Amino acid sequence: MLLEGRHGLILGIANKRSIAWGIAQAVHREGARLAVTYQGERLEENVRELAMHLRDPLVVPCDVAKDGDVRSLAEAVRAEFGSLDFVVHAVAFALREELDGEFVNTSREGYRVAQDISSYSLTAVARETAPLMEGRGGSIVTLSYLGGERVVPHYNVMGVAKAALEMSVRYLAADLGPKGIRVNALSAGPIKTLAASGVHGLSKMLEYHRNHAPLRKNTEQEEVGDAALFLVSSLSRGITGEVIHVDGGFHVMGMSAL
Ligand code: NAD
Repeated sequence: MLLEGRHGLILGIANKRSIAWGIAQAVHREGARLAVTYQGERLEENVRELAMHLRDPLVVPCDVAKDGDVRSLAEAVRAEFGSLDFVVHAVAFALREELDGEFVNTSREGYRVAQDISSYSLTAVARETAPLMEGRGGSIVTLSYLGGERVVPHYNVMGVAKAALEMSVRYLAADLGPKGIRVNALSAGPIKTLAASGVHGLSKMLEYHRNHAPLRKNTEQEEVGDAALFLVSSLSRGITGEVIHVDGGFHVMGMSAL
């Protein structure tokens, strides 16, 4: 098994549709022992129930907007596992009113919240967990979307946060590479999850994607899970600072029909 004897930390499970849960299942299948987090009491029961399907999991609360939570998360992982081999950051949030209408109307607070939770949190998590991965060939993976590279209707402030997230991946890759830690992102096609449901017009987006992506299908949670498995395993040991698209090729299209 690819991850036998390895320890991983996964942030971002809300329910069974979460991309983070797809990733958890893929890495668990390959032998990893996992620490998983839940955002607050509202999601604790969901996450604990899902974690029952994992081998001897560590379940820890973590609101990434709080430095103290991120620090205690790293401490809890150190106390239980001693060290860490990979971290998956699958966390994003924007105020619902910012994901409809025009980007030009983005509020200062909406901009701040989206950047804090969806982009800065990767740096906070990387800083606190890096000491646990140093010298072990560690891997950090985050989740992005095409709306961070190009304009996608209604994605608005989240697109700007994803652009910052993807650039953070490159800076973090440069900082942590000498310590043997790789940092990459997966840019997934649209999938119907709790977070994605906040984006106005999601079903039309899914339909457009199916009709125009080279593979003529929607992206599946399992496809992202398997790509993440590659990125956290030694199969990808030569790759860092990269954004890999798991979107059926949607991003390569300029015009899909004439
Ligand atoms: P999801 O709703 O299942 O997961 C989002 C997670 O973020 C939830 O578990 C939520 O608890 C967590 N979160 C939000 N605020 C938080 C906070 N303050 N502290 C800790 N956790 C917090 O949805 P998802 O689609 O699986 O999203 C996971 C990642 O994938 C996100 O970064 C999202 O932008 C990205 N992504 C999603 C899609 C898609 O279409 N679903 C496409 C590309 C990228």
